[in-house]
Amino acid sequence: MNDSKYIYLDNAATTPMDPRVIEEVTKHFKETYGNSSSLHSVGQKAGQILLKSRETIASLINANRDDIFFTSSGTEADNIAIFGVTSKNKERGNHIITSSIEHHAIENPYKQLEKREFEVTFLPVDQFGLIATKDLENAITDKTILISIMFANNEIGTIQPMKKIGSIAKKHDVLFHTDAVQAFGKVPIDVNEMKIDLLSASAHKLYGPKGVGMLYIRNKGIREGWGKFIEPIMYGGGHERDMRPSTVNVPGIAGFAKAAELAKEEMDEESLRQIKLREKIIKWVTENIEDSYLNGHPTQRLPNNVNIGFRYIEGESIVLDLDMEGIAASTGSACSSKSLEPSHVLTAIGLKPEEAHGSLRVSLGRFTTEEDIDHFLEKLPGVIERLRKMSPLKKGVKYMFSDSNHENYH
Ligand SMILES: *Cc1c(COP(=O)(O)O)cnc(C)c1O
Repeated sequence: MNDSKYIYLDNAATTPMDPRVIEEVTKHFKETYGNSSSLHSVGQKAGQILLKSRETIASLINANRDDIFFTSSGTEADNIAIFGVTSKNKERGNHIITSSIEHHAIENPYKQLEKREFEVTFLPVDQFGLIATKDLENAITDKTILISIMFANNEIGTIQPMKKIGSIAKKHDVLFHTDAVQAFGKVPIDVNEMKIDLLSASAHKLYGPKGVGMLYIRNKGIREGWGKFIEPIMYGGGHERDMRPSTVNVPGIAGFAKAAELAKEEMDEESLRQIKLREKIIKWVTENIEDSYLNGHPTQRLPNNVNIGFRYIEGESIVLDLDMEGIAASTGSACSSKSLEPSHVLTAIGLKPEEAHGSLRVSLGRFTTEEDIDHFLEKLPGVIERLRKMSPLKKGVKYMFSDSNHENYH
């Protein structure tokens, strides 16, 4: 990494903070130190910033200000949604429907619930990563209390048909939660049009600070409001209307709001710009590098997500070699998280384990330039070629493991 410029193409893992957000957070760390629930003026000032932030964030998804609950992360928002709804509704039913390509922040809570007498349906996806809404409708029973389908996938970028899912959930009177951490601020979201009841988001995927998230909870109106279908999973002081107690991170939240405001202002222009870069990479790589193919949906995908499979080599090695060239990317192979299991997302779209291990995720961001992409495309072929030369699976010798093709190994 001694090159003058390091090219960061891993914005799906986390984003650098926007300098305008850093400025906002720094200002509030200095000035807005009060506890937002204190009565004195310093506390009141923090309370006002909190209120304003709630408004800004709500406006990005066409929600009511009071339906935004700040959390410490996207993971925490997912956990509150899942455990809060299931524990409140366990008398009504014990069945939940989700997809087989969820983030671990959804998948693992559901695995815990399966140990606690809940039944979880993990809907399959097609080769592009889309669920079939027909499967969803067929899976609903009178015991179903929650449908949780991610808005956009973090590995392959596929965007699910939110509006259709929302109307199915509504028709059957089942709560609909979506993990929108990857989609929030990148694609238009309207919780009313999409009939979303609960939605998770996180600031650090949006050029905001790490450790700040939110859960949108639709106030079902009438008397009890959200208290009727969800309960807290933590108990303490009364912050965030008891839903998420603990002194509120007002400077971080002000940064989250700034990030949301910028995302709203720049979304149209920025997504067009990123789609151009995305398409440039996909076209160039699949046309110029042999045995490479796109993972995920060709069009229904996040503007910033590219996921390409390379036969005969490991994604992990590609990432490490690119890093030596001063380029940060990621692999769908869970080897990177110290496990030998291939990505559950890539196997769910039908890739064989060895194919799933050979994938590369390139995720663009606000600060990615065309020059960065050109530099990446200049370095990538050499990396792939070098690794394939060393690969025991490389073309021509790939049949060495197959009984019927011994002749091919010479
Ligand atoms: C990053 C991510 C999360 C977790 O968010 P944190 O704020 O890091 O806890 C959850 N879901 C998806 C889809 C993500 O990409």
